[in-house]
Amino acid sequence: MISPKVTLRRGHEARLRAGHPWVFAGDLAETPPLEDTGNIVEVLDSRGRFLGMAMYNPRCNLTLRVLTRQREDIDRRWLARRLTEALALRSNYLPGLEALRLVNAESDGLPAFIVDRYGEYLVVQSLALGADWLLPDLVAELVEQLDPEGIYERSDVPVRALEGLSERKGVLWGESPPDRIIISEGSYRFHVDLLTGQKTGFFLDQRPNRQRLLTLAKGKRVLNTFCYSGGFSIAAACGGSAETIGIDLSASALELARDNAALNGVADKCHWIADNAFDLLRAFDRGREKFDIVVLDPPSFTKTKESLPGACRGYKEINLRAIKLLSPGGILVSSSCSHHMNQELF
Ligand code: SAH
Repeated sequence: MISPKVTLRRGHEARLRAGHPWVFAGDLAETPPLEDTGNIVEVLDSRGRFLGMAMYNPRCNLTLRVLTRQREDIDRRWLARRLTEALALRSNYLPGLEALRLVNAESDGLPAFIVDRYGEYLVVQSLALGADWLLPDLVAELVEQLDPEGIYERSDVPVRALEGLSERKGVLWGESPPDRIIISEGSYRFHVDLLTGQKTGFFLDQRPNRQRLLTLAKGKRVLNTFCYSGGFSIAAACGGSAETIGIDLSASALELARDNAALNGVADKCHWIADNAFDLLRAFDRGREKFDIVVLDPPSFTKTKESLPGACRGYKEINLRAIKLLSPGGILVSSSCSHHMNQELF
């Protein structure tokens, strides 16, 4: 197949050459129009030398996402190989998990694609124009390699607007998942709402931290802020915590959290408060409450570098208050999912 070619400006190849898969609009010598037959392009350096094949979207500042450094056809066979590699990593290093991320976008060489497994169901996100183009082949390969009951799309995320795409969700293949499914994770289980829950339904990325908390919680009084469906509370309660208080603004999240506590037989140890965590942390501090473990897992406080100072103030406030609420020797579990808040700054 002959692909359109996109040439980089002189001196703008360094990031790509160093292994990063992204090229921005300002790095391009010219921006050819979108092809309506597809938008996989060959990327060339300023002297016309081949650098790789990439997804192309001239409407987006993140214009190129490199797929491969070889000159090869980006077709279903190519997708099949990438998917097989991603699945092999999981079966080698994370065997036996019922719910986990199977495809983590650029990290698995499948830019802008997320695939999460929840038991018999797969949830897919497509976050770029090029990914939308490749989606039918990806779905066909997921069916071929994983034989799920159903594949559900949760591309209802605002970031698609940056690609000029609207949000969407719905069944891509097979059966629609029921309103709720139950997944197990080690010794506990969770109700997950794949259709309307946050992200693809659950915060799979906190699994190792939940499991760690379980081993630390015996006899402890635990405060779990921004608790969503109660993941950390359930882990702590199953680890023998004396009492666990979960806070979230969302009533529907707390409904799931309550049901999760009942599902695991720890409803008596779990309390839930629908409120603003900032206000409650302040109120607990004024009331001289003490906890042995405080969990902070807020939503991202900034999506841009420009609003980083405000985000820093937010992180400082909740962390300072949480530290003040700790009894001597207590444990702070503090998370940030803001890309611009790097580890050192955090
Ligand atoms: N800790 C959760 C994931 C947290 S996601 C888990 O492990 O599953 C962030 C959560 O914060 C969402 O559930 C959202 O409803 C909630 N939230 C956002 N702003 C809030 C606020 N000001 N006070 C309390 N909860 C808030």
